[in-house]
Amino acid sequence: MDKVRGSRGNQGERDRQEGSRRMGMGTNLLWLGDLNQSRVLDAIRRADSISRVELAEQTGLTPQSVSNIVRRLLEAELVLEAGRRSSRGGKRATMLRLNATAYYAVGMHIDPASTTLVVTDLRGRVIERSHRRTPSGHGPARVIDSLVETVRRTVRSSRVPADRILGLGVATPGPIDAGGGFVVEPPNLPGWHRVPLQEELESATGLPVIIDNDATAATIGERWSGGDQRSGDMAFVYFGTGIGGGLVLGDQLYRGTSWNAGEVGHITVDAQGRLCPCGSRGCLELYLAPHAVVAEAARRRGEAVPDLPRRSAMAIESYDRLCRDAEAGDEIAVATVREAASRLGQAAVSLLNVVDVPLIVLGGWGISHVGPIYQEALREAGDERTIARAMRKVRVETSLIGDDAGAIGAASLVLYTTYSPRVSSL
Ligand SMILES: [Zn+2]
Repeated sequence: MDKVRGSRGNQGERDRQEGSRRMGMGTNLLWLGDLNQSRVLDAIRRADSISRVELAEQTGLTPQSVSNIVRRLLEAELVLEAGRRSSRGGKRATMLRLNATAYYAVGMHIDPASTTLVVTDLRGRVIERSHRRTPSGHGPARVIDSLVETVRRTVRSSRVPADRILGLGVATPGPIDAGGGFVVEPPNLPGWHRVPLQEELESATGLPVIIDNDATAATIGERWSGGDQRSGDMAFVYFGTGIGGGLVLGDQLYRGTSWNAGEVGHITVDAQGRLCPCGSRGCLELYLAPHAVVAEAARRRGEAVPDLPRRSAMAIESYDRLCRDAEAGDEIAVATVREAASRLGQAAVSLLNVVDVPLIVLGGWGISHVGPIYQEALREAGDERTIARAMRKVRVETSLIGDDAGAIGAASLVLYTTYSPRVSSL
């Protein structure tokens, strides 16, 4: 599922757009435009607690710089002093930790069947959650009104003061023109092409709004909420209404020149395969997307193959049933999922040979009941068929953020944009 259709501006243009978006994020906020400052905050966020000396070691900054930055972070209440701990040389060092409840973010995942909303703290922990059917069939204005009402209600019941909310992140499947704030192919929302969702939501909620593809959002969410377990390099495979992914290299989301990096779903696994809407043949997504897996199971059972529209609520419900059957050991369901998993294994060999990451994370609601089947296939692929197999073992894990990866990821878009160290700020 392509994240961005058409061309995007150059890097400078994107930085300018993100910069102006960030500047809108509350005047009482310590803006972390200073790269060193955001590196220090990131190290504090990832550690449970950490001393100034350890911070200097980790970031390579001088003790004096660390001390100045920490003072500013303490003043901004983003960081707290959390007691003392003995360190080398018998000295007792003051420990620092993130003040996770200093600020919050709202995340909204709009999927064809349902919309999930979460309010998270600075660590990405969910403190309020709501779930509803995705409103449809009433045209953009009424749907936006209804989504905004859900945001208001969820924020109200979270009891978080409005001035502590950094922004609203929105994740949807399919192409996003993130620069322009448009959803290019909105799920289940007829008449929505080129609706300026970002602008509409910003003016209705008064919050800064960031929109991205759900696979990208989930990748950022995993990296953000996963702390030390998700630092370094990883490939994330997202199982939603389509198959997407994201690459984190050196702790940074790698977006690529046109912001379309990580499109795992369009790795070719059968050169003679069916034509994919992307223009290529035999793409992974044609075999792994919910409607495709459901159709394959029907074929194996000798039943009429259902013609389920891609991204339909019906395809999602049938897929969920099939995955539960596989989990319960139903033979045909297991065989169907194994076949899909071996296709992903094939794609993973190509991916691992190109990026050589030590970790693949499987996430999104589509993996909920079938994680072990996919993990087994991917481990086998990494350990037996990649060039570097003698040098490293590839860890294959399921997501730490669970079924709400899209919504938590959406909230993390806000946190990541506000607080993460950015290479482009250099
Ligand atoms: Zn394709």
